[in-house]
Amino acid sequence: MRVTNSRLQSLAASFKPRTSDVHPTPYSWINTSVPGSSTGKLAGRSIAIKDNISNEQAPTSCSSSILQDYNPPYTATCVQSLISEGAYIAGQTKMDEFGMGSQTTHLPPFYTPIHNPASPSPDESLRSAGGSSGGSAAAVAEGSSWAALGTDTGGSVRLPASYCGVVGLKPSYGMISRRGVIAYADSLDCVGVLGRNIDTVEQVFNVISQPDEGDMTCASSATRSIASQISQQHIPGNGIEGFRIGIPRAITQNVPPSLLDYLKGRGAKVDEVSLPSINRALPAYYVLASAEASSNLGRFGGGWFGSPLEREDAREGESGEERRKRIRTEGFGREVKKRILAGTWALSADEFNNTYLKALHLRQLLRREYQTLFRIPHPLSSPGRISNDGVVDMILHPTAIRTAPILGKGKEAAKGSNEYQQDLLTVPASLAGLPCMSVPSGKGSDGWPLGVSLTSQWGMEGLVFRLGRAVE
Ligand code: GLN
Repeated sequence: MRVTNSRLQSLAASFKPRTSDVHPTPYSWINTSVPGSSTGKLAGRSIAIKDNISNEQAPTSCSSSILQDYNPPYTATCVQSLISEGAYIAGQTKMDEFGMGSQTTHLPPFYTPIHNPASPSPDESLRSAGGSSGGSAAAVAEGSSWAALGTDTGGSVRLPASYCGVVGLKPSYGMISRRGVIAYADSLDCVGVLGRNIDTVEQVFNVISQPDEGDMTCASSATRSIASQISQQHIPGNGIEGFRIGIPRAITQNVPPSLLDYLKGRGAKVDEVSLPSINRALPAYYVLASAEASSNLGRFGGGWFGSPLEREDAREGESGEERRKRIRTEGFGREVKKRILAGTWALSADEFNNTYLKALHLRQLLRREYQTLFRIPHPLSSPGRISNDGVVDMILHPTAIRTAPILGKGKEAAKGSNEYQQDLLTVPASLAGLPCMSVPSGKGSDGWPLGVSLTSQWGMEGLVFRLGRAVE
C-alpha cells in the first residue's frame, strides 16, 4: 500500500534537515523510502517518531549535538510494533534536547526552529508548539503525519497536544515498552501517542501497549488483564453513564462550564475534589527529573556514539578526561547542562536529605492523595480488592495554565511564559505514574487551542478513552 499523504510527500521532496533547512519543518529526518505493500491494523498509516526513540533506519539525535549523526543499532520495540502492523514511519521529529523543555526551543544549531501550526489567523505572531514533543504534535496538527509517538516525562506529550489542538496520551507508567527509548528520567519516562482524534490515539496505543521482556519496567500480561477486568467490573459498557468525575479545587479555570453540564447530561457525576499536594508537584518533579537525568546523561561524551565531536581525535596534549570534558561542554546545550548541574547538586552528600529525599517524600504524598480519591483500586494493590474508599473514577482539569506562548524574546513572548511553570498541571500525573490524556476543548480568548486533561487509576486507559470521546 502507498502512503497517500500529499503533504508529507511534498515536504519530503524539498527536505534538507540541516542548516539549509529553511522551512520550519517539525521533522529532523523524513523517510523517503517508498513503502511496500503492507497489511495489518495500521496498514499505510504514516506515523512520526520523536527523535529520542531509536529507529535504525534514521539518525536518532535527541536534538543534541552530542548525538548528531548517531545511528542506533536497533529499533525500539514500540516502533517495531508499528512497523509490524503495517505503519509507515514518516520521519523523526524535533524535540527539546533530551526531552528537557516545554517549547521545543532547546534545539542544536543545526536544526531550524519549529512553529505551532494551529494559528487562528495568518497575521498572528509565531507561537510555540509546546515541548518537548513539539515536533510530533506539529506534524500531526499540520496533517503531514496521521499520528506520532512522543515521550512524556512531565508533560511533553500533553502540553504540545494542548497548544496544537490535538489529542495526546501519556499512558500509565510501564504500559509501553521503553526498550530503545533514550532515557531522560527513568522513573517518569513514558512513550505517549498523539493523533487528531481519540480513535487514532487508541488504535496506535492498542498496537504498542504490549508486555516486553526487554524492558523490566513494562507491565506483564497478568497485570494488564487484572487492570482490564477491574475497569469493566467498575463501569461496564461503553458510555460515561455512572462515571464519577472530580475537578481539583483551585484549578477549575479554563474548564468550560458547558463541558461539565454536557457530561452531567450524559449521566456522569461531577464534583470538586481536594488534591492539595498538586501545588508542590512542580519543585518535586524538577528535583527528581534532574537527579535522574544527571546520572543517565553520564554515558555521553566517551566516544561511543559517533558524533562529529566524538570522531575528532584528541587535541595535542589533551588527556582523556580533558577530551571528555570538552565533548560534553560543547555537545550539550545550556538547558541540559543546567539540569545536569542541578541534579548532581541534589544528589550530593550535603544536599541529598534536604533536597532529593524531600522530593521523593512529596511524590509519595501526592500518590497517596490520588489513591485516596479513586474509587477503583490500583490493579497492583492487594489482590481481590474490589473497591477503594475514594469517590471518583477520573480527575479532570485544564492541561495547561495558558494557550501556546509566543516565540521569541519580545515583551509579548515573555508574558506568563516562564517555561517551567507551563508544566504545573502536567507533572502531577507523571509523578503518580497515572494515565492522563489531553483532549482539545475549545479555544482561549486569543483564539488558540485549549485542552483538558483526564487522569484515571493506573491501567485504566480504556476509561480515559471512553470519557475522552464524550469530551471530544
Ligand atoms: N518540561 C518538562 C521538563 O523539561 C517535561 C519534559 C518531558 O516531559 N520530557 O522536564
